[in-house]
Amino acid sequence: MSKDIEDPQDWEDATKLIRGGLSRSHWGETAEALYLTQSFVYDTAEQADERFAGTSNTPGFIYSRYSNPTTKMFEDRLALLEGAPFCRSTASGMAAVATSLVGLLSAGDHILASKALFGSCRWIITQYLPRMGVEFTTVQGTDLDAWKKAVRPNTKVLFLESPANPLLEVIDVAAVAAIAKEAGARLVVDNVFATPLFQKPLQLGADIVVYSATKHIDGGGRVLGGAILGDEALIEESYRDFLRHTGPALSPFNAWVLLKGIETIDLRVRRQSETAATLADLLADHPKTKRVFYPLRKDHPQYEVAKKQMSGGGTLIALDVGSREAAFRFLNALQLVDISNNLGDAKSLATHPSTTTHRSFTEEDRLAIGLTDGCVRLSVGLEGANDLARDLTRALEAI
Ligand SMILES: *Cc1c(COP(=O)(O)O)cnc(C)c1O
Repeated sequence: MSKDIEDPQDWEDATKLIRGGLSRSHWGETAEALYLTQSFVYDTAEQADERFAGTSNTPGFIYSRYSNPTTKMFEDRLALLEGAPFCRSTASGMAAVATSLVGLLSAGDHILASKALFGSCRWIITQYLPRMGVEFTTVQGTDLDAWKKAVRPNTKVLFLESPANPLLEVIDVAAVAAIAKEAGARLVVDNVFATPLFQKPLQLGADIVVYSATKHIDGGGRVLGGAILGDEALIEESYRDFLRHTGPALSPFNAWVLLKGIETIDLRVRRQSETAATLADLLADHPKTKRVFYPLRKDHPQYEVAKKQMSGGGTLIALDVGSREAAFRFLNALQLVDISNNLGDAKSLATHPSTTTHRSFTEEDRLAIGLTDGCVRLSVGLEGANDLARDLTRALEAI
């Protein structure tokens, strides 16, 4: 009797995260093997010839700048979680963002992006791409008419983050995807804040999803990594040669760390998100807080959109305490939460975006996205919720 072979696509997320992409060597190791090798050897000169020509009927690798068995396991596992046909990994989230845009654009093209972006994403679009002859327009991401009006005949890419860094602005991904389709352009979504658990941009109509694996996928604040996901033909055609010849490859060691990190992302992110929702309410109720931003709170400006496209509120909260002095006093009074610009870590971290992550924005650009000097971004970790509540309350009182 033949055994029915399980289809990984049918598994629950928790199973995909443990079993997805697993490729064991002939030694039958339990844990994923770390293939710390730069290159691969061939049995014969003919085999090398065939592998380079892409005509080999035996699967195999060539060089770790192209691909590697450990990074491939990571790519296959993340693709399974995302529900994406294909994934390519990169050395960092920014390598993923840069590759995702450069691979789709040529001189003379136009890119349209939301204003609220991570500082480095904004730098690529407004500083680097123009030097390569690519025109750009930035729009208020929540204003769908603004996206439509800014489309030009040469618009090739629409780019957004949702929820956006740092104030968690939520953009209607399906609506922007429809505008992209109509324009014959591709929609690229940076899904870092939502995490692959709570939002599936490809299902909402996006063409490409990018991640900084550095954040929730590692989850322990150890290594940098990134990923680009989407249709296999689109990724191969747009990014394969760029990845091979410019070399933003993920290190096999980092891929191995990320493989172990992703095993627990479901447990971690769900717990962190649960704690974040509780803390967002606590912060909002405190008299020293002017405003709190959390996607699944009813007072979030795009609450309805968030409810429609996100299945969890996420691990990040932003709050406005009124002034830079108040924000600094708040940060300096924290005892458990660390001051750090990273996010998605098991350790709770807080930062003052206008002097750190969004320092490269002009003041005008900061105010255009509502980022005032009183804003603090909080990445909620895995510590006990009561301990965090006490730490945050004490810091608010120190203002
Ligand atoms: C951190 C981050 C990036 C960049 O990722 P790195 O791994 O640090 O290069 C890109 N986009 C968003 C939204 C991020 O938070």
